[in-house]
Amino acid sequence: MTAKEVEIVVDGNIKYLMARYGIPNWKIEVIYDECDNVNWGAQCERSNDYCSATITIDPARADSEKEVLELLQHELLHLVLAPFDLYRDTMTQHLVNFSSPAAKREQCIWRHAVEQTVRTLEVILKYGEDKSLS
Ligand SMILES: [Zn+2]
Repeated sequence: MTAKEVEIVVDGNIKYLMARYGIPNWKIEVIYDECDNVNWGAQCERSNDYCSATITIDPARADSEKEVLELLQHELLHLVLAPFDLYRDTMTQHLVNFSSPAAKREQCIWRHAVEQTVRTLEVILKYGEDKSLS
């Protein structure tokens, strides 16, 4: 998709999704460009102190409105979990060598826990209103 096409999808949905996910107070800037890792479709940088975030969506990695919304949803769910960033930042502030084996292990476990929780939230949102599952 073009950056403009992705922007139209985001602009038409982001306020609703922010309200639905309980994060209407966040100030979010969306950038349409490549991510830091070219294998990512989107990324999110956030500041808990100011409830502000920058979401980057790579238009080249979205082929449909559905894919744009999935990327946007994923990054917004990271904001839902943002309070846990404060805990992690506090607990790891004593690390002086972020390239140490212990620090790398902590980063790996943290990334796994966060991504799995975001994935679970995505499933809950997808199937949460399907009464046939109960
Ligand atoms: Zn993620």
